[in-house]
Parts: sequence; structure tokens; C-alpha cells
Amino acid sequence: MTAIKTQEHTLGRWSLADLFPAHDGKEMKAAIKQLEDQAAAIEKWRDKLSADISDIDFLSILQAMETNTRLSGRVSQFAGLFFAEDTQNQLAQSFQAQIDQKMAELRNRTLFFSLWWKSLDDKTADRLMKASGEFEYYLRQMRNFKPYTLAEPEEKVINIKDVTGASTLQTLYSSLTDRYAFKVAVDGETKEYTRAQLMQLIYGPDPDLRAAAYQELYRVFSHDGPILGQIYQALSRDWHNENIDLRKFSSPIAVRNLSNDIPDEVVDTLLGVSEENSRVFQRFFNLKARLLNTKKLRRYDIYAPVTSSDKRYSYEQAVNLTLDCFAEFDPKLETLAQQVFRAGHVDSEARKGKQGGAFCSSADPALMPWVLLNYTGLARDVSTLAHEFGHAIHAMLAGHHNVFNFHSSLPLAETASTFSEMLLVDKLLEKESDESVRRDILFAKVDDSYATIMRQVYFAIFERKAHEMVSKGTSADELSSAYMENLKSQFGDSLEIGDEFKWEWVSIPHIFYYPFYVYAYAFGQLLVFALYQQYKAEGAAFKPRYLELLSSGGSRSPDDILKKAGINMRDAAFWQGGFDVVSGMVDELEKLSGK
Ligand SMILES: [Zn+2]
Repeated sequence: MTAIKTQEHTLGRWSLADLFPAHDGKEMKAAIKQLEDQAAAIEKWRDKLSADISDIDFLSILQAMETNTRLSGRVSQFAGLFFAEDTQNQLAQSFQAQIDQKMAELRNRTLFFSLWWKSLDDKTADRLMKASGEFEYYLRQMRNFKPYTLAEPEEKVINIKDVTGASTLQTLYSSLTDRYAFKVAVDGETKEYTRAQLMQLIYGPDPDLRAAAYQELYRVFSHDGPILGQIYQALSRDWHNENIDLRKFSSPIAVRNLSNDIPDEVVDTLLGVSEENSRVFQRFFNLKARLLNTKKLRRYDIYAPVTSSDKRYSYEQAVNLTLDCFAEFDPKLETLAQQVFRAGHVDSEARKGKQGGAFCSSADPALMPWVLLNYTGLARDVSTLAHEFGHAIHAMLAGHHNVFNFHSSLPLAETASTFSEMLLVDKLLEKESDESVRRDILFAKVDDSYATIMRQVYFAIFERKAHEMVSKGTSADELSSAYMENLKSQFGDSLEIGDEFKWEWVSIPHIFYYPFYVYAYAFGQLLVFALYQQYKAEGAAFKPRYLELLSSGGSRSPDDILKKAGINMRDAAFWQGGFDVVSGMVDELEKLSGK
């Protein structure tokens, strides 16, 4: 089935009119006034909060908070998108700052509810959850933190001290590293690069520039290595002191696992199975070495392009390819995506001052999402378009849930986006008869899989080790040696690794800002590979299960949602299934390359 083309697709900007006509119009002023009135009304409930609150009163508070969260979501979303469309616009900058401040104030006014809710006895909480319908999972997930919640005065002290403690260290880390400038000589002329520009050299075809870019990157980071290492150690000690010593979590990673609502043993299984599969990507690097006519690949070359097909896709082609993929899977998906285009919620062109990269933003489930792209016509841009529209249809399919329940939790958040990319890869492979283009498409997919699966898994493994070392007392140099060991077990003897890579860990913002966040990327990607394999095996029978998974949003625990889709995330064989897909792609590449 082919998409019905009722609309021409041209590059352009979005309209935010479905949110607000302007940042300074009467509608925005009225919304902010309404948020304040709503907060005042919620505050009036404070005296009624007790163990004998009636089911009806309890539901009324939840509904009042839900309405308030939708409206504050729309206001914040407008501020964010208004800024994203032109980050140099000073009006947008100051409006965003003003809204951030306002939202923090409003949140503090209604904070009492969650504190009260976590302090309730189990019997009352169970009664109220039973009466709360769709709010149940939201309430349960808050209660999951009850055993680790301290008394109100202690919680307040932690909040206050965090502002000038851990948060300041994180700000300091970005203040230091954001102003780094990198100098690389290109064609005999030394130029200054930002980190993002340096990455362009790393993905580029010139082997000397790839090496120079990496060497410069870690030269600059290693210069501050001991200081950045000190910041890291202070942050991980803080994590330990608060979460292990005071809150009594069983391990540093358990804190993140609970907020993802993923059992500890599932994360252990995921990391364990991944380690056992490190050979899969080592095999890929060996193949790349042969294609680049070198005995052994250097660490500098892992993202090196193998062939340089410069095939371009017009925006119209990219949109239609994506819509066709959706339509073939289920016409409903195509209809949803069309609605987003028709509503003018897509900012597709690359423009000076516009935020880089791509995202899909959804705040109020009653509204269609907004999609930002910077479309330039590369095959990578077509994938990104499919990816972001995957997010959009995910949000729309889950749009019937309340605002607390419609976004999926982190490990499931990339399901529809990555699945859409897989549909697109298959579509491109099916249309493409030129073997070198086919090979490019597959190479790009395995490159991405490496970056989202194995690289992230080994960061998490390093974090586990580093937190343990720090709690026993260590130095930045010892952490660097541990990082080198980590790289060696990841790459085996498939790569030549320059000594400067021992400083890579101080250059990864995630491990400073969100300890143990990274494994969720591997979780999401492997989950989609395994789901995709089921789709290939079962065809039409698979579709309703998949659509139901997406429609669940975040209304139940990831375990419940996946069980319903026939997936047991505790089972090592399930994760192995994901790696089998990667392994199959590497086989195919070996075949296409005649090696
Ligand atoms: Zn995404």
C-alpha cells in the first residue's frame, strides 16, 4: 500500500499557534494567571490531606493537579520551542528564563502533595490507589521511593545543599568544558573547532584528520584531566553518601534502576549478555579494517565511512519514504504522521540560529507533538526524520492517557523511534539495487548500533567500577587506568588504542550529570531489535501487540507493558535475540563485501 499524497512537503518552519499566538499576548498572560489560580486552589486542599480523606476528594485533587500540569506543560513547551526556533532571539531567551523561574515557584507550592503521599501508611495508600483509576501507576511509582525517603527536614536540607553542592559541581563541569576550543590543521591551515565540529572530522573520510581530531580532543580534556577527575570523584562520593549511606539503596546503580522502574537483576542480565557479545562488534571492526585496507583498525577509525556514496534525498522523498513505511505497517500510523504535517507542527529547514540536531516534543497529550529537524538531504537525515516521527506517533497513540502517564519511561521511550528507523532501513534496502548503496545503509546502521549499544554498556560498566573505586579512595590516574582496562575488554585485540583515550571518561557529560543513565540507550535499542525480529517472524500477527505496547505510553511499569507484548526482560535469551540481529547485519556486510 502506498501513502496517499494529499499534501506537498516542502522545507519550512513550524507554527506554534496551537499553543499560543505569541509569548507576550493576552492568551499567555491569561494562562500564567490561570496557573497561579490553580496552584492556589490546590494549596487549599492541604488541610484535607489525612489518612481518612475520601476517595472522591482524593480524585478531585489528582484531577486538579492533572489539569494544572497540562497547562504548565503547554506554557513551558511554548517557551522551549520559541527558543529552539531561534536560540539567538533575546526575547525568547529571557522568556524562557522567566518561565523556568515561574514553574519552579509553582512546583514548590504543590510539592506538599507528593511528600504527604509518600508518608502515608500502606493500607490507606492501597485504598486510594484502588480508587484512582488511571492514576494508579503514577501514584505507585512515587510510593516506590518511600523506603528511601528521609524525614521532611532532612529532605529539605539535601535540596538546599544540592543547589550549592552537586548541582554547582555539574555547572562548573560544563562551564569549564563548554569553552574548550580545539585546534586542528586542515590543508596546512590551523582552524578552531567546537566539539560538534570536531565530530564532523571524526566521521569524515580523511584518516589523518580523524586521528588529529581525536588527539586534539583528548589533549584538551587531559590538560584539565585531574580537575575534571576531582569533580567526578566529588559527584560520585556525593551520590554514595546520599543514596547508600543515608537512603540505604543497595548499590549506586540501584538508584537509577528504581527511577526507570527496572529490577536490578534485569540490568545485570542486560550488561552481562552485552559483555558476552563484545565479539560481534569486534568482528565488525575487523571487517572495516579489511575494507579500509589496513591490518588493524585504529580507535580513530571506528566511525570511518567505508565507501563514499553521496546519495541525496529531497525532503519530499524523505517524507514520502517515511509515510510509506508507516502505511505499510498500519494505515493508522501514516494518518497520524500526516496530521502532524498538516497541523504545521514541523520545523524542517536548517536555519542560522536554530537549535541543532532533531527532536520531537510533546507536553499535553491533547495536542499533537512538534517535530524539529535540520534536514540537509543525507541518508542520515532521512533516518532522523523517521526516528522523530516514530516519537510523534508514539505520543499520539498514547494520547488518551493522563498527562502523568502518557510518556513512556526512559527504557521504552525510544521504542517507536528506533522501530521506525528499522522499517526505513528495510524499505531503503528493498528499493536499492546498487550494492554499494545497500552496503552504506547497513554500515550506517551497525555504526549507530555500536554507538547506542556497546559503547553505552561499557560506559555503565565503567561507572559501576569507578563508583566502587571512589568509595574506597582512588586518584584520577587510577581511574584512567581502569578506563583503559575497560576499553581493552570492550575491543579485545580488534583495535589499536592510542594512550590518550585513557582520558575519554572525563569527556562524557552523562556520567557527571546523570549517573548510570546510559544503559537505557542499550536497553531501548536491543529491545527494538528483538521486537523487529518478532515482527519479521510473525508478520501481521505481531502488529496489534506492538501497537498496544505503544498505546500503553507510561501507564504501567515497563515490565507489565513488555509482558503484555510477550516479552520477558528477565530472560537472557531475549537480549541475546537483539545481538543476533546485529550479528546478522555483520554477516550480511561480510557477504556484500566479499570478505
Ligand atoms: Zn529519540
